[in-house]
Amino acid sequence: MHPYLPHLLKDIAAAHRAEKPCREREQSFAEILEEIGRMKEERKYTFGYFCGLKAEDFPPSDQFLKKDMKLVCSAFKKMMRRWNLNCWLPKGLPADLAYNLLIRTLERKINPLEPGLVEFGYCSRYPANCLLGQHCTCLKQKPHEGMGGFIEIKLK
Ligand SMILES: [Zn+2]
Repeated sequence: MHPYLPHLLKDIAAAHRAEKPCREREQSFAEILEEIGRMKEERKYTFGYFCGLKAEDFPPSDQFLKKDMKLVCSAFKKMMRRWNLNCWLPKGLPADLAYNLLIRTLERKINPLEPGLVEFGYCSRYPANCLLGQHCTCLKQKPHEGMGGFIEIKLK
């Protein structure tokens, strides 16, 4: 086991979103409107900004054993779910690639007040420029046109 691993897992656990505190009193109409306004606000800050983790906190994947990376990935995915975020990665992706791609979601901008689950992905659905390359399921599917780079699916 990598000596840094327990520390990293502890940091990821600490990055879980705290449950919303119970409201102590009824909101006024103005406050409700303000909250709705904030939900619609643009995403100004990154996921890392909100959860307190930085991609630099994660050691390079070559310092980890495969099983260590799997532990980090599953802890990270669990933490993402608490933020209503998900990262779609195809099954059978090499552990180091999954690790690196998950960490890169820390750089994506989010608005934690937005309702619904936000799913990040790296598949362009077009094998010629899909970031997941030979590992991706899009290779086996009929290509879609005109998409590339990051995609994001908003699930309601
Ligand atoms: Zn793909």
